[in-house]
Amino acid sequence: MNVINPATGELLATLQEDTASTLIQKYELLKEAQPQWAAESLEQRITVLQRFEQLLQQHTERLAAVLTSEVGKPLQQSVNEINGARTRIQWLTSHAAAYLQPEVMTSTDTLEERIVYEPLGVIGNISAWNYPYLVGVNVFVPALLAGNAVLYKPSEFASLTGLEIGRLLYEAGVPEHVFQVAIGGGSTGEGMLELPLSGYFFTGSYKTGQYIYEKVAPKMVPCQCELGGKDPLYVADDVADVAAVAAATADGAFYNNGQSCCAVERIYVQEKIYDAYVEAFVKEVKSWKMGLPTEPGVYIGALTRPAQIELLSHQIADARAKGASVLTGGEAVNGPGNYFEPTVLVNVNHSMDLMQEESFGPIIGIMKVKDDAEAIRQMADTQYGLTAAVYSSSAGRAQQILAQLNTGTGYWNCCDRVSAALPWSGRGHSGFGATLSHAGLRAFTHPKAYHLRK
Ligand code: NAD
Repeated sequence: MNVINPATGELLATLQEDTASTLIQKYELLKEAQPQWAAESLEQRITVLQRFEQLLQQHTERLAAVLTSEVGKPLQQSVNEINGARTRIQWLTSHAAAYLQPEVMTSTDTLEERIVYEPLGVIGNISAWNYPYLVGVNVFVPALLAGNAVLYKPSEFASLTGLEIGRLLYEAGVPEHVFQVAIGGGSTGEGMLELPLSGYFFTGSYKTGQYIYEKVAPKMVPCQCELGGKDPLYVADDVADVAAVAAATADGAFYNNGQSCCAVERIYVQEKIYDAYVEAFVKEVKSWKMGLPTEPGVYIGALTRPAQIELLSHQIADARAKGASVLTGGEAVNGPGNYFEPTVLVNVNHSMDLMQEESFGPIIGIMKVKDDAEAIRQMADTQYGLTAAVYSSSAGRAQQILAQLNTGTGYWNCCDRVSAALPWSGRGHSGFGATLSHAGLRAFTHPKAYHLRK
């Protein structure tokens, strides 16, 4: 399998893909090693994962360079991602004892009722490329803490990073047979679906997630899907500083070239402030530097997948044909590398793919709305349910709107953000199950109920 630098088109490496038989070998090793890992004390496993976090810190510069070389994000954003992953590991390791230790629920002279959180066994993690450290850490860190062995498949667009993660986990003290990296694309993922794994944890698109969920169903094992989104953001007319909100929300839409599951994908602005907002938003977007992700000051790097350029061009053409206007951008940039101008469209409506299908790129539609009721109607008009954001001076007004939306996350005066202390979960086509928080620590366990009559 060739690994190509999306910013230059240069060949970075050629890797051996896993086959059905190497996957079976890896699975057998994991299955044999898992009970011993689970028998270690929780404190021991916490110490090992804390060491992994320290190694990420020690090697940040080199790891960021590898990440940027294969996914095309600006170097500083790669550093930010690794630092963000470290913060999550710190939270997970410092809360593992509280949420994974046995809990005594009832204790009388004659009866004890206790919950023990047993590991699932050997779990599969099929992962995405847009934040390989963040979405990987969400799964393999709590899985390992809980005593599972992990077969981890990084995306074919982030394989070098996946291999680095494996090496650093071993250096930190995770036994090699407790964590194995599977290399390859969809067919390697398919191979994992053939294995008798004890749980499947998937991050990726709705289409693949739906397929995996169906394939895993007959196995009767846990399956979690963290999928895409079409996340809406509403700016109410009572915001204090329209220009500041425009700049912050533009970052929420375009950070990482819009390739975030929780990137802002649709914006609704109340009519009174609409013109001022759009003007400030476009000014902000025009101020960004696009170019080689290794160049200082670049905010818009290369798109990771060449195929995305066609999808973005299609969404813009479809929107234009239905009456939208492009205020800035609108075109792919001639190669080498996968570059697309950051694009802002107005006069948009929900008949356009731009406002219905995940763009996962540097384009955004901004729509004028009359009032909160219309904003709620438009925001709710989607199959997805990952996040929604409201900007307003009133906490009550914002929360009243967010409570009516069927999403896993609600943001007031912020967006495109994840916290290790809170569950990360989708609804509808954005998936189900949670990572992070106490729910995410326990997602990799079976709670066993003990009824102990004294
Ligand atoms: P994708 O669905 O194309 O691929 C995801 C993974 O699935 C890859 O590792 C891929 O090799 C594997 N895969 C592909 N076909 C498979 C098959 N038939 N069987 C088994 N595995 C298979 O998604 P992607 O392009 O890597 O990621 C982008 C998507 O991920 C976007 O929709 C984004 O919103 C979503 N995402 C969601 C979250 C979240 O937390 N909700 C986080 C990051 C990304």
